[in-house]
Amino acid sequence: MSTKKKQKVQEFEYKAEMKQLLNLIVHSLYTHPEIFLRELISNASDALSKVRFDQLTENKTEEDGEELKITIMLDEKERTFVIEDNGAGMSEEELITNLGTVAKSGTLGFLQALKEDQPEQGGIDANLIGQFGVGFYSVFMVTDEVTVETKADDSPGCIWRSSGEGTYTIEKIDREKQGTKISFTLKEDAGEFAEAYRVETIIRKYSNFVDFPIYLDNKRVNSITALWQRPKSELKEEEINEFYKFISVDYQEPLDYLHLSLEGVVSFKALLFLPKEAPMDMLYQQGALENHGPQLYVRKVMIQHECKELLPEYLRFVKGVVETEDLPLNVSREVVQNSPVMAKIRQILTTKIIGWFESLAEDHPEKFRQFYKAFGPVVKIGLNTDFTNREKLIELLRFESTATGEGEFTTLREYVDRMAEDQKEIYYLSGDNRQQMLSNPNLEYFRKKGIEVLLLVDPIDVFVIPSISEYDKKPLKSIEKADIDIKPEEGEEKDALSKNMIEPVLRIFKETLGDRIEDVVESQRLVSSPVTLVGGKDTMDPQIEKMLRMMKQSDAAGKKVLEVNPSHPIIKNLAGLCMLDESHPVIRKTMSQLFEGALLLEGSLESTAEFVSRMNDIIEAATKQAKT
Ligand code: ADP
Repeated sequence: MSTKKKQKVQEFEYKAEMKQLLNLIVHSLYTHPEIFLRELISNASDALSKVRFDQLTENKTEEDGEELKITIMLDEKERTFVIEDNGAGMSEEELITNLGTVAKSGTLGFLQALKEDQPEQGGIDANLIGQFGVGFYSVFMVTDEVTVETKADDSPGCIWRSSGEGTYTIEKIDREKQGTKISFTLKEDAGEFAEAYRVETIIRKYSNFVDFPIYLDNKRVNSITALWQRPKSELKEEEINEFYKFISVDYQEPLDYLHLSLEGVVSFKALLFLPKEAPMDMLYQQGALENHGPQLYVRKVMIQHECKELLPEYLRFVKGVVETEDLPLNVSREVVQNSPVMAKIRQILTTKIIGWFESLAEDHPEKFRQFYKAFGPVVKIGLNTDFTNREKLIELLRFESTATGEGEFTTLREYVDRMAEDQKEIYYLSGDNRQQMLSNPNLEYFRKKGIEVLLLVDPIDVFVIPSISEYDKKPLKSIEKADIDIKPEEGEEKDALSKNMIEPVLRIFKETLGDRIEDVVESQRLVSSPVTLVGGKDTMDPQIEKMLRMMKQSDAAGKKVLEVNPSHPIIKNLAGLCMLDESHPVIRKTMSQLFEGALLLEGSLESTAEFVSRMNDIIEAATKQAKT
């Protein structure tokens, strides 16, 4: 018997973006329709959390009301599915804002990008779906029409109906009970989701740790336990891994975990995880870490899903749960932000997490490598933001170098230990990849002398490494700078041009290149290349410069110093030509060509047309000579 009194039914249209999203969900996510269940349960659980929170802050106990729970009723024959919760419910306005618009900005873009990336799979990788919070709408993978009956405290009940096609309706009804009931008939090919056994398996897989009892056809199915409250010795690896997958919506097991139980100035328990891989949005979206963080619980109540105040930004990829008794239950966002208790927890967590990384490096080098590969670039942000832990973070840095193999790493400590006694500086070179760096002419001197050079391949390195400036009292120097300590080779000078032979060459180089160059000098560092470009004392690292130009932050390439190799046959030939006839056109052409060739190597030659046409002239001359 229904007490619902029919009132006016109002029709609403979805926003355009919403329509597109619905379309994508139905057609691209369809290969994994089971996730609809996880999403509905997760929403119900959130709504229940709100009620539990209100009860606790108003000093009511759960016993005062009905048990907070999720109920699922199935009818295999009719293919009907009903999920009900006695959580916070929604008012009419909330229905419109919550179920009529895309919750997470950027979701649509991500999904589209993914779909384009993986067309051959006929759908978006199930492993990635969890990261996008498609939420409630995933239900349209298994049904053509959904009915949501809901009532929030202090507002009348409503029925929301939609077939996910472009419009939805809302109708006011009489409903006594606070909470939400979602019902639908499953599509023919989704009949499995009306089978109790199948549904139970899915709940165990995705929702076993939901903090409220789930009843399936009146039978309790999930096992709720706050793992982090149990002593370490009682925790089973398998359980921990399942818990991680549940809270992080990751399909992989964690790389490692840390269990903390601290009592002191502040007391808290934490169960923290390192994911194996960096999540998609962290890689694609600038500022993606802004709203990340572990879950915050206060006295068994979840206060925040992603509490960013718990960790500095550079550690926010760490997932998990932190629970404390030292905060009031009704903490508002402002309190969380400004509380000295939070500041203390954050400080302790930061130290513990860095210690965790250190022990990984020490005891589990393979895990550390995996961690560093995934999150190293993020952790490096800490070098410029967390001065308290800077020294420790510097020790965690890893680099390839001319002394390591490809993909192998050295620490700064190991580098310094390998340094020869007379080496006073730590040298580095930055670039896009190892191969390109190894062919950089500026490296020739160092290779010949057997001096190790760090090869910075991570693009963020050029922003953080120069800021270290010194390690173990040894300055860090880019080998592309003009002011590095390079000693002239003894005994080799007899091969090189004498001062008065090289002088006209340098002078004509300067005349020819004019203001494209800051200076032209004789090089001590070159072995087999005729010329190279180095930065003046104050110029930027070429990698930074390239990046800024790409981002259109700066269009002026900083002027460079051209170093000329007095032992190279081309330079010797030029010197000879200068003696004969300074105005010979081949001299200037060759000089321009050498200069632009150096730009090309560096990746900063902007117009290749002139370069090629000049090269053709030179080849023409050379072939003509060969003919005669
Ligand atoms: P998300 O859960 O990622 O915010 P959803 O599309 O799943 O996105 O849900 C949108 C919003 O609708 C939720 O944030 C919540 O405010 C509301 N909502 C959904 N299901 C329920 C429910 N069972 N009870 C109360 N509110 C709900």
